Amino acid sequence: MKRTSRDIRTANRYGVLRQIIARSPTSRQELAAATGLSLATVATLVGELLDLGMLTEVGFEDSAGGRPRGLVAVNASGGALIGVDIAETYVRVELFDLALNVLARAREGMCPGGTLPEQVVGHVVSAVGSVVTQAGVEGARVLGVGVSVPGQVDRETGTSEYAPNWDWHDVPLLDLLAEHIAYPLHLDNPLRACAVAELWFGAARGRGDAVVVNLGTGVGAGLVLGGGLHRGVSNSAGEWGHTTLVLDGRPCHCGDRGCVETYAGAPGIMLNLRELSPDSPLLHPEDQTATIDALARAVAAGDPVAVQAVRDTARYLGAAIANLVNLLDPEVVVLSSWVAAALGEPLLREVREAVARHALKRPLAGTEIVLSPIPTDPVCLGAATFALEGALSSAVRGPAAGGPAARRAAPAARTASAPRTDPARSRTAPPA
Ligand SMILES: [Zn+2]
Repeated sequence: MKRTSRDIRTANRYGVLRQIIARSPTSRQELAAATGLSLATVATLVGELLDLGMLTEVGFEDSAGGRPRGLVAVNASGGALIGVDIAETYVRVELFDLALNVLARAREGMCPGGTLPEQVVGHVVSAVGSVVTQAGVEGARVLGVGVSVPGQVDRETGTSEYAPNWDWHDVPLLDLLAEHIAYPLHLDNPLRACAVAELWFGAARGRGDAVVVNLGTGVGAGLVLGGGLHRGVSNSAGEWGHTTLVLDGRPCHCGDRGCVETYAGAPGIMLNLRELSPDSPLLHPEDQTATIDALARAVAAGDPVAVQAVRDTARYLGAAIANLVNLLDPEVVVLSSWVAAALGEPLLREVREAVARHALKRPLAGTEIVLSPIPTDPVCLGAATFALEGALSSAVRGPAAGGPAARRAAPAARTASAPRTDPARSRTAPPA
Protein backbone atom coordinates (compact mmCIF):
# COMPACT_ATOMS: atom_id res chain seq x y z
CA MET A 1 0.00 0.00 0.00
CA LYS A 2 1.40 3.33 -1.09
CA ARG A 3 1.72 6.04 1.53
CA THR A 4 0.38 9.35 0.30
CA SER A 5 1.62 12.74 1.49
CA ARG A 6 -1.61 12.95 3.54
CA ASP A 7 -0.74 9.68 5.28
CA ILE A 8 2.69 11.04 6.10
CA ARG A 9 1.22 14.31 7.36
CA THR A 10 -1.25 12.41 9.55
CA ALA A 11 1.53 10.15 10.84
CA ASN A 12 3.74 13.15 11.67
CA ARG A 13 0.93 14.95 13.49
CA TYR A 14 0.12 11.76 15.35
CA GLY A 15 3.79 11.24 16.26
CA VAL A 16 4.11 14.77 17.63
CA LEU A 17 0.81 14.61 19.53
CA ARG A 18 1.80 11.23 20.98
CA GLN A 19 5.05 12.71 22.35
CA ILE A 20 3.17 15.65 23.84
CA ILE A 21 0.61 13.37 25.50
CA ALA A 22 3.46 11.26 26.91
CA ARG A 23 5.30 14.25 28.37
CA SER A 24 3.33 17.48 28.70
CA PRO A 25 4.50 20.21 28.86
CA THR A 26 7.28 20.06 26.36
CA SER A 27 9.11 22.33 23.93
CA ARG A 28 9.32 22.19 20.15
CA GLN A 29 13.05 21.51 20.53
CA GLU A 30 12.39 18.43 22.71
CA LEU A 31 9.75 17.26 20.25
CA ALA A 32 12.16 17.54 17.34
CA ALA A 33 14.70 15.47 19.26
CA ALA A 34 12.12 12.84 20.25
CA THR A 35 10.52 12.44 16.80
CA GLY A 36 13.55 12.93 14.54
CA LEU A 37 11.63 15.61 12.60
CA SER A 38 13.19 18.99 11.83
CA LEU A 39 12.45 21.91 14.16
CA ALA A 40 10.67 23.71 11.30
CA THR A 41 8.41 20.70 10.63
CA VAL A 42 7.64 20.34 14.34
CA ALA A 43 6.82 24.04 14.59
CA THR A 44 4.36 23.71 11.68
CA LEU A 45 2.71 20.59 13.15
CA VAL A 46 2.45 22.18 16.61
CA GLY A 47 0.84 25.24 14.98
CA GLU A 48 -1.74 22.99 13.28
CA LEU A 49 -2.51 21.13 16.52
CA LEU A 50 -2.89 24.48 18.35
CA ASP A 51 -5.35 25.58 15.63
CA LEU A 52 -7.27 22.34 16.09
CA GLY A 53 -7.60 23.11 19.81
CA MET A 54 -5.74 19.94 20.76
CA LEU A 55 -2.78 21.79 22.31
CA THR A 56 -2.32 24.86 24.42
CA GLU A 57 0.64 27.18 25.05
CA VAL A 58 1.66 27.00 28.70
CA GLY A 59 4.51 29.49 29.14
CA PHE A 60 8.26 29.30 28.77
CA GLU A 61 11.20 27.41 30.15
CA ASP A 62 14.69 28.84 30.57
CA SER A 63 17.26 27.31 28.29
CA ALA A 64 20.74 27.81 29.73
CA GLY A 65 21.48 31.34 28.56
CA GLY A 66 19.60 31.09 25.25
CA ARG A 67 16.14 32.40 24.37
CA PRO A 68 13.39 31.03 26.58
CA ARG A 69 11.62 28.10 24.91
CA GLY A 70 7.85 28.11 24.51
CA LEU A 71 6.14 25.14 26.12
CA VAL A 72 3.07 23.35 24.80
CA ALA A 73 0.82 20.84 26.52
CA VAL A 74 -2.08 18.73 25.41
CA ASN A 75 -5.42 20.51 25.86
CA ALA A 76 -7.13 17.80 27.89
CA SER A 77 -10.57 19.35 27.44
CA GLY A 78 -10.04 19.84 23.69
CA GLY A 79 -12.05 16.72 22.93
CA ALA A 80 -13.14 13.30 24.21
CA LEU A 81 -12.25 9.86 22.90
CA ILE A 82 -14.02 6.57 23.50
CA GLY A 83 -12.33 3.15 23.59
CA VAL A 84 -14.41 -0.05 23.27
CA ASP A 85 -13.02 -3.44 24.32
CA ILE A 86 -15.25 -6.23 23.01
CA ALA A 87 -13.94 -9.44 24.54
CA GLU A 88 -15.35 -12.97 24.52
CA THR A 89 -16.95 -12.58 27.96
CA TYR A 90 -17.53 -8.83 28.37
CA VAL A 91 -17.75 -5.43 26.73
CA ARG A 92 -15.84 -2.61 28.43
CA VAL A 93 -16.10 1.01 27.34
CA GLU A 94 -14.06 3.93 28.65
CA LEU A 95 -14.31 7.63 27.83
CA PHE A 96 -11.08 9.65 27.89
CA ASP A 97 -10.12 13.28 27.72
CA LEU A 98 -7.56 14.28 25.12
CA ALA A 99 -4.69 13.63 27.55
CA LEU A 100 -6.09 10.06 27.73
CA ASN A 101 -7.24 10.28 31.33
CA VAL A 102 -10.28 8.07 31.97
CA LEU A 103 -13.38 10.17 32.70
CA ALA A 104 -16.01 7.40 32.73
CA ARG A 105 -16.26 3.65 32.32
CA ALA A 106 -18.97 1.05 31.74
CA ARG A 107 -18.93 -2.74 31.62
CA GLU A 108 -21.45 -5.27 30.36
CA GLY A 109 -21.13 -9.01 30.88
CA MET A 110 -21.83 -11.38 27.99
CA CYS A 111 -23.17 -14.84 28.62
CA PRO A 112 -22.05 -17.78 26.49
CA GLY A 113 -24.48 -17.99 23.58
CA GLY A 114 -25.19 -14.26 23.84
CA THR A 115 -22.66 -13.30 21.24
CA LEU A 116 -24.64 -12.81 18.04
CA PRO A 117 -23.55 -9.61 16.27
CA GLU A 118 -26.78 -7.78 17.12
CA GLN A 119 -26.44 -8.76 20.81
CA VAL A 120 -22.84 -7.54 20.95
CA VAL A 121 -23.84 -4.31 19.16
CA GLY A 122 -26.58 -3.80 21.79
CA HIS A 123 -24.02 -4.06 24.62
CA VAL A 124 -21.64 -1.61 22.92
CA VAL A 125 -24.38 0.94 22.16
CA SER A 126 -25.66 0.83 25.72
CA ALA A 127 -22.19 1.16 27.28
CA VAL A 128 -21.19 4.02 24.94
CA GLY A 129 -24.39 5.87 25.86
CA SER A 130 -23.61 5.27 29.53
CA VAL A 131 -20.07 6.72 29.48
CA VAL A 132 -21.16 9.82 27.53
CA THR A 133 -23.94 10.47 30.07
CA GLN A 134 -21.68 9.77 33.08
CA ALA A 135 -18.93 12.07 31.82
CA GLY A 136 -21.43 14.78 30.93
CA VAL A 137 -19.60 15.64 27.73
CA GLU A 138 -21.40 17.24 24.83
CA GLY A 139 -21.74 14.85 21.93
CA ALA A 140 -19.96 17.30 19.65
CA ARG A 141 -16.81 16.99 21.74
CA VAL A 142 -16.48 13.25 21.13
CA LEU A 143 -13.85 13.04 18.40
CA GLY A 144 -14.33 9.34 17.75
CA VAL A 145 -14.80 5.80 19.02
CA GLY A 146 -12.11 3.14 18.67
CA VAL A 147 -13.57 -0.36 18.69
CA SER A 148 -11.50 -3.46 19.40
CA VAL A 149 -12.92 -6.87 18.54
CA PRO A 150 -11.06 -10.21 18.71
CA GLY A 151 -9.96 -11.92 15.52
CA GLN A 152 -9.15 -10.61 12.08
CA VAL A 153 -10.56 -7.24 11.10
CA ASP A 154 -10.57 -5.14 7.96
CA ARG A 155 -9.98 -1.58 9.14
CA GLU A 156 -10.92 -0.01 5.83
CA THR A 157 -14.37 -1.60 5.57
CA GLY A 158 -14.98 -1.85 9.34
CA THR A 159 -15.62 -5.58 9.02
CA SER A 160 -14.92 -8.35 11.51
CA GLU A 161 -13.68 -10.85 8.95
CA TYR A 162 -13.22 -13.77 11.28
CA ALA A 163 -13.66 -14.15 15.03
CA PRO A 164 -12.88 -17.84 15.71
CA ASN A 165 -14.33 -17.98 19.22
CA TRP A 166 -17.75 -16.79 18.01
CA ASP A 167 -17.60 -18.20 14.49
CA TRP A 168 -18.21 -14.71 13.10
CA HIS A 169 -17.52 -14.37 9.38
CA ASP A 170 -17.58 -11.01 7.54
CA VAL A 171 -19.71 -9.17 10.09
CA PRO A 172 -20.04 -5.47 9.03
CA LEU A 173 -19.56 -4.40 12.64
CA LEU A 174 -19.01 -0.66 12.14
CA ASP A 175 -22.02 -0.38 9.81
CA LEU A 176 -24.15 -2.10 12.47
CA LEU A 177 -22.81 0.24 15.17
CA ALA A 178 -23.22 3.33 12.96
CA GLU A 179 -26.98 2.73 12.92
CA HIS A 180 -26.96 3.71 16.60
CA ILE A 181 -23.79 5.69 17.27
CA ALA A 182 -23.25 9.06 15.61
CA TYR A 183 -19.53 9.46 16.28
CA PRO A 184 -16.79 8.47 13.83
CA LEU A 185 -15.99 4.78 14.40
CA HIS A 186 -12.67 3.00 13.92
CA LEU A 187 -12.09 -0.77 14.09
CA ASP A 188 -9.09 -2.87 15.08
CA ASN A 189 -8.31 -5.80 17.33
CA PRO A 190 -7.04 -6.22 20.91
CA LEU A 191 -3.53 -7.28 19.87
CA ARG A 192 -2.95 -3.92 18.19
CA ALA A 193 -4.75 -2.00 20.95
CA CYS A 194 -2.67 -3.58 23.75
CA ALA A 195 0.57 -3.03 21.86
CA VAL A 196 -0.14 0.69 21.38
CA ALA A 197 -1.21 1.08 25.02
CA GLU A 198 2.10 -0.44 26.20
CA LEU A 199 4.06 1.65 23.68
CA TRP A 200 2.49 4.93 24.83
CA PHE A 201 1.99 4.37 28.56
CA GLY A 202 3.29 0.98 29.63
CA ALA A 203 6.25 -1.37 29.61
CA ALA A 204 7.12 -0.79 25.92
CA ARG A 205 7.48 2.99 26.36
CA GLY A 206 10.74 4.13 24.81
CA ARG A 207 11.52 0.61 23.55
CA GLY A 208 12.17 -0.18 19.91
CA ASP A 209 11.14 -3.85 19.89
CA ALA A 210 8.50 -5.30 22.15
CA VAL A 211 5.99 -8.14 22.20
CA VAL A 212 2.72 -7.72 24.08
CA VAL A 213 1.33 -11.16 24.86
CA ASN A 214 -2.42 -10.98 25.18
CA LEU A 215 -3.76 -13.67 27.52
CA GLY A 216 -7.53 -13.81 27.62
CA THR A 217 -10.03 -16.27 26.22
CA GLY A 218 -8.02 -15.93 23.02
CA VAL A 219 -4.28 -15.54 22.86
CA GLY A 220 -2.16 -13.41 20.55
CA ALA A 221 0.89 -11.18 20.36
CA GLY A 222 0.90 -7.46 19.58
CA LEU A 223 4.18 -6.57 17.90
CA VAL A 224 6.17 -3.37 18.21
CA LEU A 225 9.08 -3.46 15.78
CA GLY A 226 11.49 -0.62 15.09
CA GLY A 227 9.57 1.66 17.48
CA GLY A 228 6.22 1.28 15.69
CA LEU A 229 3.23 -1.03 15.58
CA HIS A 230 3.73 -3.93 13.16
CA ARG A 231 0.50 -4.79 11.33
CA GLY A 232 1.67 -7.00 8.49
CA VAL A 233 0.33 -6.72 4.96
CA SER A 234 -3.25 -7.73 5.85
CA ASN A 235 -3.35 -6.32 9.42
CA SER A 236 -3.09 -9.92 10.68
CA ALA A 237 0.38 -9.96 12.23
CA GLY A 238 0.65 -11.42 15.72
CA GLU A 239 -1.74 -14.38 15.38
CA TRP A 240 0.75 -16.30 17.46
CA GLY A 241 -2.11 -17.91 19.41
CA HIS A 242 -2.79 -19.96 16.28
CA THR A 243 0.77 -21.12 15.75
CA THR A 244 1.28 -24.82 16.43
CA LEU A 245 2.70 -25.73 19.82
CA VAL A 246 1.78 -29.43 19.91
CA LEU A 247 1.56 -31.41 16.64
CA ASP A 248 -1.86 -33.10 16.45
CA GLY A 249 -2.67 -31.55 19.83
CA ARG A 250 -5.94 -30.18 21.19
CA PRO A 251 -8.54 -29.09 18.60
CA CYS A 252 -8.79 -25.31 18.13
CA HIS A 253 -11.71 -23.10 17.06
CA CYS A 254 -9.65 -22.08 14.03
CA GLY A 255 -9.91 -25.63 12.65
CA ASP A 256 -6.31 -26.60 13.33
CA ARG A 257 -4.90 -28.61 16.22
CA GLY A 258 -2.37 -27.90 18.93
CA CYS A 259 -2.47 -24.09 18.70
CA VAL A 260 -0.83 -22.09 21.52
CA GLU A 261 -4.28 -20.73 22.43
CA THR A 262 -5.65 -24.19 23.25
CA TYR A 263 -3.06 -24.50 26.07
CA ALA A 264 -2.66 -20.91 27.27
CA GLY A 265 -6.06 -19.23 26.71
CA ALA A 266 -8.60 -19.32 29.55
CA PRO A 267 -10.42 -22.42 28.18
CA GLY A 268 -7.01 -24.08 27.66
CA ILE A 269 -6.02 -23.35 31.26
CA MET A 270 -9.32 -24.93 32.37
CA LEU A 271 -8.36 -28.03 30.39
CA ASN A 272 -4.90 -28.05 32.00
CA LEU A 273 -6.60 -27.99 35.40
CA ARG A 274 -9.12 -30.68 34.41
CA GLU A 275 -6.36 -33.02 33.16
CA LEU A 276 -4.66 -32.60 36.52
CA SER A 277 -7.78 -32.94 38.66
CA PRO A 278 -10.99 -33.80 36.79
CA ASP A 279 -13.23 -33.05 39.78
CA SER A 280 -11.41 -29.95 41.02
CA PRO A 281 -13.76 -27.62 42.91
CA LEU A 282 -11.90 -24.75 41.22
CA LEU A 283 -13.57 -25.66 37.91
CA HIS A 284 -16.66 -23.68 36.93
CA PRO A 285 -17.41 -25.41 33.63
CA GLU A 286 -19.48 -22.60 32.10
CA ASP A 287 -17.57 -19.69 33.56
CA GLN A 288 -13.99 -18.92 32.51
CA THR A 289 -13.69 -15.82 34.66
CA ALA A 290 -14.86 -17.61 37.82
CA THR A 291 -12.44 -20.51 37.17
CA ILE A 292 -9.42 -18.26 36.58
CA ASP A 293 -10.30 -16.17 39.67
CA ALA A 294 -10.69 -19.34 41.77
CA LEU A 295 -7.36 -20.62 40.45
CA ALA A 296 -5.63 -17.35 41.36
CA ARG A 297 -7.04 -17.42 44.91
CA ALA A 298 -6.04 -21.08 45.33
CA VAL A 299 -2.48 -20.38 44.17
CA ALA A 300 -2.25 -17.53 46.68
CA ALA A 301 -3.41 -19.98 49.38
CA GLY A 302 -0.74 -22.51 48.35
CA ASP A 303 -3.15 -25.14 46.98
CA PRO A 304 -0.83 -27.73 45.33
CA VAL A 305 -3.21 -28.56 42.45
CA ALA A 306 -3.63 -24.89 41.58
CA VAL A 307 0.12 -24.30 41.78
CA GLN A 308 0.69 -27.26 39.44
CA ALA A 309 -1.99 -26.07 37.00
CA VAL A 310 -0.28 -22.69 36.72
CA ARG A 311 3.07 -24.43 36.32
CA ASP A 312 1.69 -26.64 33.52
CA THR A 313 0.21 -23.57 31.80
CA ALA A 314 3.53 -21.74 32.12
CA ARG A 315 5.36 -24.71 30.54
CA TYR A 316 3.29 -24.33 27.38
CA LEU A 317 3.33 -20.56 27.47
CA GLY A 318 7.06 -20.44 28.17
CA ALA A 319 7.92 -22.64 25.19
CA ALA A 320 5.73 -20.49 22.93
CA ILE A 321 7.18 -17.23 24.28
CA ALA A 322 10.70 -18.61 23.81
CA ASN A 323 9.80 -18.97 20.11
CA LEU A 324 8.93 -15.25 20.04
CA VAL A 325 12.18 -14.38 21.82
CA ASN A 326 14.27 -16.41 19.36
CA LEU A 327 12.34 -15.07 16.37
CA LEU A 328 12.10 -11.35 17.24
CA ASP A 329 14.84 -10.69 19.83
CA PRO A 330 12.66 -8.12 21.67
CA GLU A 331 13.70 -5.82 24.52
CA VAL A 332 10.60 -6.67 26.48
CA VAL A 333 7.79 -9.23 26.51
CA VAL A 334 4.71 -7.89 28.31
CA LEU A 335 2.05 -10.24 29.68
CA SER A 336 -1.28 -8.43 29.26
CA SER A 337 -5.06 -8.89 29.48
CA TRP A 338 -7.33 -10.33 32.13
CA VAL A 339 -5.83 -13.81 32.56
CA ALA A 340 -2.33 -12.35 33.04
CA ALA A 341 -3.74 -9.77 35.47
CA ALA A 342 -5.59 -12.46 37.48
CA LEU A 343 -2.73 -14.99 37.71
CA GLY A 344 -0.12 -12.23 38.15
CA GLU A 345 3.26 -12.80 39.77
CA PRO A 346 2.99 -16.59 40.27
CA LEU A 347 2.38 -17.03 36.52
CA LEU A 348 5.14 -14.56 35.66
CA ARG A 349 7.70 -16.42 37.80
CA GLU A 350 6.88 -19.78 36.20
CA VAL A 351 6.85 -18.28 32.70
CA ARG A 352 10.29 -16.72 33.18
CA GLU A 353 11.72 -20.08 34.24
CA ALA A 354 10.07 -21.90 31.35
CA VAL A 355 11.24 -19.36 28.76
CA ALA A 356 14.78 -19.68 30.11
CA ARG A 357 14.65 -23.45 29.49
CA HIS A 358 13.80 -22.98 25.79
CA ALA A 359 15.15 -19.66 24.48
CA LEU A 360 18.64 -19.12 23.12
CA LYS A 361 20.95 -17.43 25.61
CA ARG A 362 21.86 -14.33 23.60
CA PRO A 363 18.37 -13.07 22.71
CA LEU A 364 17.10 -14.11 26.15
CA ALA A 365 19.78 -12.06 27.91
CA GLY A 366 18.43 -8.88 26.27
CA THR A 367 14.76 -9.64 26.94
CA GLU A 368 12.80 -8.61 30.02
CA ILE A 369 9.55 -10.43 30.75
CA VAL A 370 7.08 -8.34 32.77
CA LEU A 371 3.42 -7.99 33.65
CA SER A 372 1.58 -5.06 32.09
CA PRO A 373 1.92 -2.06 34.43
CA ILE A 374 -1.16 -0.32 32.97
CA PRO A 375 -3.70 -0.08 35.79
CA THR A 376 -6.78 0.37 33.58
CA ASP A 377 -8.05 -1.66 30.61
CA PRO A 378 -5.19 -1.42 28.06
CA VAL A 379 -7.49 -2.44 25.20
CA CYS A 380 -9.83 0.54 25.81
CA LEU A 381 -6.80 2.83 26.04
CA GLY A 382 -5.29 1.51 22.80
CA ALA A 383 -8.65 1.64 21.04
CA ALA A 384 -8.99 5.32 22.07
CA THR A 385 -5.64 6.05 20.39
CA PHE A 386 -7.06 4.60 17.16
CA ALA A 387 -9.93 7.08 17.44
CA LEU A 388 -7.39 9.86 17.98
CA GLU A 389 -5.44 8.78 14.92
CA GLY A 390 -8.66 8.75 12.91
CA ALA A 391 -9.58 12.22 14.13
CA LEU A 392 -6.20 13.58 13.05
CA SER A 393 -6.55 11.87 9.72
CA SER A 394 -9.97 13.39 9.01
CA ALA A 395 -8.64 16.78 10.10
CA VAL A 396 -5.92 16.43 7.44
CA ARG A 397 -8.44 15.29 4.82
CA GLY A 398 -10.90 18.01 5.68
CA PRO A 399 -14.66 17.70 6.24
CA ALA A 400 -15.50 17.38 2.55
CA ALA A 401 -13.71 14.08 1.98
CA GLY A 402 -14.84 11.21 4.17
CA GLY A 403 -12.39 8.38 4.75
CA PRO A 404 -13.40 4.75 4.30
CA ALA A 405 -12.15 3.83 7.76
CA ALA A 406 -14.53 6.08 9.66
CA ARG A 407 -18.19 5.11 9.70
CA ARG A 408 -20.81 7.69 10.45
CA ALA A 409 -24.44 7.23 11.28
CA ALA A 410 -26.75 7.04 8.31
CA PRO A 411 -29.14 10.05 8.15
CA ALA A 412 -32.11 7.74 8.68
CA ALA A 413 -30.61 5.95 11.68
CA ARG A 414 -33.36 4.33 13.68
CA THR A 415 -32.47 4.82 17.32
CA ALA A 416 -29.89 6.69 19.28
CA SER A 417 -28.63 5.54 22.61
CA ALA A 418 -25.73 7.93 22.38
CA PRO A 419 -26.44 11.64 22.09
CA ARG A 420 -26.67 12.57 18.44
CA THR A 421 -24.26 15.00 16.95
CA ASP A 422 -24.33 16.88 13.73
CA PRO A 423 -22.02 14.74 11.56
CA ALA A 424 -20.20 17.88 10.41
CA ARG A 425 -19.54 18.85 14.03
CA SER A 426 -18.29 15.40 14.98
CA ARG A 427 -15.20 16.09 12.94
CA THR A 428 -12.30 17.46 14.84
CA ALA A 429 -12.10 20.85 13.16
CA PRO A 430 -11.81 22.60 9.85
CA PRO A 431 -8.94 21.48 7.62
CA ALA A 432 -5.61 23.01 8.45
ZN1 LIG B 1 -5.98 -22.17 16.31
